[in-house]
Amino acid sequence: MMDIWEQTLNWQPSIQEQNQFQRLYELIIEANRQLNLTRITNPEDFWEKHLWDSLRGIKFLISASKIKGQAEDKETIKIIDLGTGAGFPGIPVAITVPNCTLNLVDSTKKKVNFIDGILPKLNLNNVKATTCRAEEIGRDSEHRESYDMALIRAVATASTCAEYTLPLLKQGGLAVVYRGSWTEKENIDTINAVEKLGGKIESIEQFNTPLSNGDRHCLYLRKVASTPEKFPRAVGVPARNPL
Ligand code: SAH
Repeated sequence: MMDIWEQTLNWQPSIQEQNQFQRLYELIIEANRQLNLTRITNPEDFWEKHLWDSLRGIKFLISASKIKGQAEDKETIKIIDLGTGAGFPGIPVAITVPNCTLNLVDSTKKKVNFIDGILPKLNLNNVKATTCRAEEIGRDSEHRESYDMALIRAVATASTCAEYTLPLLKQGGLAVVYRGSWTEKENIDTINAVEKLGGKIESIEQFNTPLSNGDRHCLYLRKVASTPEKFPRAVGVPARNPL
């Protein structure tokens, strides 16, 4: 897949990164027999829908981190991945962006236990995993308004994802909301929600996956003002009754 990495992300994984991706695949397949972590198990699907898709959303960070690495700028980017499941997009990001720390959050304890178990096997010491609801961690003063970036994929509608991510960002921080197709109605709903939460839609990128040509959109939400105290609302409300 080296050519496709190069053509689509203008980047190629090092031998070490390739080994980590391979190990991640093996660990997920092995655990999947008992844990039901993912339906994506065929190697090509895993590469495209888990590895490539995770990294496509933060393409700009991969090149930025390589440039920063050359300049020996050690500034660390603090990232949270909400509803990470088996570790996506967070783990591929942790493997490829060295100057970052990642907090992988999921409400399901067995998924977080799985991640805790694989981190040492992947030699990842910039990552921790937390069992928590997005609505709770967004109200925790230790975490609220403390991250540079928040990632969220396949968790809820875009406006609900905005309510989960924006409270956790510092001012100027960026949320990346990974989506499949995108409609005008979702666009309007999200513009309204983001405004209430102290954010703005900075850009929406459309692209297709390189093997199966699937439709994808990534929303980039910039935090431009403090999020009002009342957000995120109580557990379950953002999903049941989106802004
Ligand atoms: N992001 C992963 C998993 C998507 S499945 C991927 O793209 O492959 C959605 C995950 O979000 C599930 O693991 C579920 O437990 C978690 N989740 C759903 N609502 C949540 C919430 N409010 N807070 C934290 N995790 C949540």
